[in-house]
Amino acid sequence: MIRLSAITPSGHVHLGNHLGAIRRWAAEGKPDDLYFISDLHGMTSSHNPAVLRALAREQLAVLIAAGVGERTVFVQSDLARELGALTWVLECTCSYGEAARMIQFKEKSKGQAGVRLSLLTYPVLMAADILLQGAAQVPVGEDQRQHVELARVLARRFNATYGEVFTVPEAVLPPAAARVRDLSEPARKMSKSTRDAAGVLFVLDEPDALRRKIKRAVTDGGSTVAYDPEGRPGLANLLDILAGCVDGDPVELAAEYTSYGALKAAVTEAVVETLAPIRTAATALLDDPAELDRIRKAGATRAAERGEHRLQSALRLIGAG
Ligand code: ATP
Ligand code: MG
Repeated sequence: MIRLSAITPSGHVHLGNHLGAIRRWAAEGKPDDLYFISDLHGMTSSHNPAVLRALAREQLAVLIAAGVGERTVFVQSDLARELGALTWVLECTCSYGEAARMIQFKEKSKGQAGVRLSLLTYPVLMAADILLQGAAQVPVGEDQRQHVELARVLARRFNATYGEVFTVPEAVLPPAAARVRDLSEPARKMSKSTRDAAGVLFVLDEPDALRRKIKRAVTDGGSTVAYDPEGRPGLANLLDILAGCVDGDPVELAAEYTSYGALKAAVTEAVVETLAPIRTAATALLDDPAELDRIRKAGATRAAERGEHRLQSALRLIGAG
């Protein structure tokens, strides 16, 4: 049972990505699972090539540094030929209406000038990501469910029309993890693509930067420390972060602190302790390009080899070559 998950290099990796995804990939990942840096998906709207390339490398280093199995990781663009070919095959089984109906496309294209065609077709590339590898389970949040559903439809349709090639994938809900919120604006979640970095704790931030950001985190009114996500989201977020880092319970932790200052000091210590080893290992990898390239290449070769027979069968069955 292959599971497949990805992270897009749309910005620097943050604590939310780590607690909500990467940490689990490291702890629960099976040898057959696949985790990839979806840099091709980072080109569907205005982007800077050099920044995208650097971020993809950085994310690869962070994943490895965080303990995600070296043999399970690859960078999507290293399979650009295979994925490009399979995307074309799948586009030839997908109607325009099916792609145009995607909620993500509607939301992201609304009111935008010069919408890239790839914004419309990237769910088909995502189907190729999944189907090339024969992934059975794709853990995704609500926003990506419709895309996995499309991958299911295309897999079934191809199998029924041209011949059995693809495993029909299934979207699975990732285990519930508290959504880490932005420290300055707790109404929204911590995100890679947020412009203002003041409320975002990056995995590669220096301890001093982490300390400063946590010090400035909004804590709402009131003077007692209590866990009330509805009424006091900023404070609850700090408690969730602490709980996530020390593997504790936010309600129980709230009872241990009587001042914001003491709580923030504890949060800082816990975050620094969680991220420092990753930062050290990731920095070492980024300073050793040959080693990072070796890991990257091995991952790409493995992923490409694993999908090759499906790509060849699909091309043959659909009438190519
Ligand atoms: P973007 O702003 O580009 O959407 P992002 O920070 O939302 O970036 P994604 O690449 O969309 O990150 O998601 C990567 C993984 O990190 C997913 O598994 C997602 O559920 C998880 N994740 C993202 N943000 C958070 C968060 N704030 N708290 C917990 N998990 C998160
Ligand atoms: Mg996101």
